[in-house]
Amino acid sequence: MSPLTLPVVDLRSDTVTRPTPGMRAAIAAAEVGDDVYGEDPTVAALEEQVAGLLGHEAGLFVPTGSMDNQLGLRLLVAPGQELVAHEQAHVVRYELGAAAALSGITTRTYASPGGAVDVDAIAAMWSPVAGVYEVRTTAVAVENTHNAGGGTVVGLDVLRELRERASSAGVALHLDGARLWNAQVATGTDLAEYGRLFDTVSVCLSKGLGAPVGSVLASTGERVAAARVWRKRLGGGWRQAGLLAAAGQYALAHHRDRLAEDHDRARRLAMAIGARVPQTNIVLVDVADAAAVVAAAASAGILVSTMGPGTVRAVTHLDVDDEGIQRATDVLGRLLGGAAPTPSPGGPATPLR
Ligand SMILES: *Cc1c(COP(=O)(O)O)cnc(C)c1O
Repeated sequence: MSPLTLPVVDLRSDTVTRPTPGMRAAIAAAEVGDDVYGEDPTVAALEEQVAGLLGHEAGLFVPTGSMDNQLGLRLLVAPGQELVAHEQAHVVRYELGAAAALSGITTRTYASPGGAVDVDAIAAMWSPVAGVYEVRTTAVAVENTHNAGGGTVVGLDVLRELRERASSAGVALHLDGARLWNAQVATGTDLAEYGRLFDTVSVCLSKGLGAPVGSVLASTGERVAAARVWRKRLGGGWRQAGLLAAAGQYALAHHRDRLAEDHDRARRLAMAIGARVPQTNIVLVDVADAAAVVAAAASAGILVSTMGPGTVRAVTHLDVDDEGIQRATDVLGRLLGGAAPTPSPGGPATPLR
């Protein structure tokens, strides 16, 4: 069989997963109602389940991680106030300026390798008590795992220290936990141990867990009630969303433990192609021309993405098996180990998150 007749191995992102037959059956069987009226039992059950897992009082099911983060930030930071985050944070780089455009939030960022949380740097820059000139810092956002850092896990010790110092300074904490499930599986840390350290938490069901759509915001009952109003105001009131919540419930029941397989495959791929060995499911490899590698890999049936002009990103997930990883290893190994690929004509490929 020639390579071109083999199925494409899609490592662009863990968002590309498609619902399994079991998940589709769960969707078909879901009990539903009008969620804007508060009458969808499957949505309500999912919200309660995820809030419980994260050690919070209440949850809100929302369409995307971006809406989830933006609702959380809006609850913590008033217009004209400031959010502090890592310079490569999803909330800063990949949400189209939503915090500023939709909520009047100003942002300052700090730099650190791999997206690490630098508590000293953060505490040195925040201004929780501001007069009539300075912008008041009201929240810090943390990403765990950190996407642009290569799926790095932020450990509990540093988060506990951040919590302690933020609490005494009167600064709130938001967790962008799009891939918190991966952090939990990689470290064995209970989700609620992470969750309780934050005032608002967002988690995605549509990344490695493999649901087609959906994220959950967890916080206090009062904050979640306010978020419910803002979700509706933003056009996010959805009706029989239980069909999607059922996919989320299925993903939580069947696709969490198996994230360990994704981590194992990512490690094997990274070691074989000389990339940094990841803690979770995101492989980053530095190259001269990332767009050229992406184009050359695509023509051999291996889809990867870029993370900036000099970095290729490959993300393992539910729809990539050992055979797929072997093929990706062969193709990427050849491209990275061989002669430098010729620059692509079309400029940098569009990154996927
Ligand atoms: C994917 C992702 C999100 C949310 O993405 P949506 O596409 O809006 O669901 C948020 N944070 C991180 C770190 C992500 O990787």
